[in-house]
Amino acid sequence: MSLATRRPAKTCAVIGAGPVGLAAAAHLLERGITPIVLEAGPSAGAAIGQWGHVRLFSPWRFDIDSAARRLLEGTGWTEPDAAGLPTGAELIGRYLGPLATALGDHVRYGTRVTGVARLGADKTHSLGREGRAYLLRTVDEAGEGSDVITDAVIDASGVWGRANPLGANGLPAAGETADAPWQVGPLPDVLGRDRERFAGKRTLVVGAGHSAANTLLLLAELAEAEPGTEVTWAIRGRSAAKVYGGGSADALPARGTIGTRLKALVESGAVELVTDFTIDAFTTAADGSVAVTGQTGSLAVRLETDNVAAATGFRPDLELLRELRLDLDATVEAPVKLAPLIDPNFHSCGTVPAHGEADLAHPDEGFYIAGVKSYGRAPTFLLATGYEQVRSIAAALAGDREAADRVELDLPETGVCSSSRALEATSIADASEGSGCCGASAETAAEAGRGTGCGADAAKEPVTVGARGLATGVLHGRAGERVELPQAKSGCCG
Ligand SMILES: Cc1cc2nc3c(=O)[nH]c(=O)nc-3n(C[C@H](O)[C@H](O)[C@H](O)COP(=O)(O)OP(=O)(O)OC[C@H]3O[C@@H](n4cnc5c(N)ncnc54)[C@H](O)[C@@H]3O)c2cc1C
Repeated sequence: MSLATRRPAKTCAVIGAGPVGLAAAAHLLERGITPIVLEAGPSAGAAIGQWGHVRLFSPWRFDIDSAARRLLEGTGWTEPDAAGLPTGAELIGRYLGPLATALGDHVRYGTRVTGVARLGADKTHSLGREGRAYLLRTVDEAGEGSDVITDAVIDASGVWGRANPLGANGLPAAGETADAPWQVGPLPDVLGRDRERFAGKRTLVVGAGHSAANTLLLLAELAEAEPGTEVTWAIRGRSAAKVYGGGSADALPARGTIGTRLKALVESGAVELVTDFTIDAFTTAADGSVAVTGQTGSLAVRLETDNVAAATGFRPDLELLRELRLDLDATVEAPVKLAPLIDPNFHSCGTVPAHGEADLAHPDEGFYIAGVKSYGRAPTFLLATGYEQVRSIAAALAGDREAADRVELDLPETGVCSSSRALEATSIADASEGSGCCGASAETAAEAGRGTGCGADAAKEPVTVGARGLATGVLHGRAGERVELPQAKSGCCG
């Protein structure tokens, strides 16, 4: 029974009271479907609360969901200035908190979902599987378990709790443990709560994304005030161009500014950049500092530091979905139809066409992964995209196919990616040239080709991409970087 022929859902569980989970609840309510939001943390936006000191790069205009706005409008809520840039804390205080209050008993806090299954049918059970309700196993803060049963499920539980390891292979490096004294998490509050930890100390930031850039800017500011503060930045790629982004031409000016400021800090020597770096091992000293050993190219490297900020990205927790039949891409761990649009191998700069229920569906009908978790390991998720996902899912669950398939993403028509000549001199990038802008599939390229494309303009910097989205990054994504396979040094067959 496909969703098209299934009776409309009456109840829907939403895992996570982040911005996308709460927006899902607002859309479900409008559709006459009763939502029950199950949130592990003590309040709404619990994951964002961990990086409350960080300022978003998208203005309020892109941070508020349409159904959430309609719900809030009836409560005396004052909408923030559309052009303002909130911090994570302000996003919670001025939007998510009031929204959760308006949703009232539809949100249950301190409730962690530990497993989802079809009611009365394990994963292998096919006969009579379709149309069955879903069972969500939960545990509260006191360790008490209980089950919730609903017609449909939207998993908007994010990825914050699952940081990628520092080790080069996707596995932890030797000596890498989550509780090591030098681990400071992906987004420490350098100028606030955690200042003492960094003042006059050496910090190594690992990663080539927005989180790394944020932490580096804060550390550089601290270094100006606190003598002895040293900042080193290690990335795996040969160039930091994708972090520098589109500069003043970025579709989101705040994001472009971050890249420009970081570039200036590296060029002035305030931030020491180590490129092409892979980490092999950590050796913790008695005083809590650490020696990081690895390679840059074929050269062995040893860095000594007091702190390591692992801004290496996140991966989705799929264990709680183990009893479900999912259609996930082998590379990105995103729904298979969505994955080619966001694969970081080809889409660092790629804008994401609006996508909805049809692209997010799984073999177990009525179950969806939405929000940042739907992007799997791809790092380019934006709230506006997630809001469109849950609008479409709620429409489909209510049986409104026409609305589910309509694209309503309100984003600028262009994004910007930077294109460094050094990065373009690669065989992989050249190989993907024929497939269109940013190495996208033919279909995506056709969509992207509406504006000025990447093709002949690719040598310019930055490059405007004619598709909807707020892109930045490097032309061709990782495929724009030269790749040399690591050589085995010893062992069997070496
Ligand atoms: C530093 C930073 C800056 C960003 N800036 C922007 C920006 O400017 N613009 C933009 O559009 N996007 C931005 N993003 C990306 C994205 O919008 C955010 O990550 C956003 O929080 C994703 O929302 P979400 O609802 O999908 O997930 P989350 O906000 O992560 O919410 C998930 C919720 O699920 C809960 N949860 C987790 N596991 C369970 C479980 N098993 N059971 C129950 N509850 C669970 C968590 O406690 C959390 O409250 C930024 C991200 C980061 C990290």
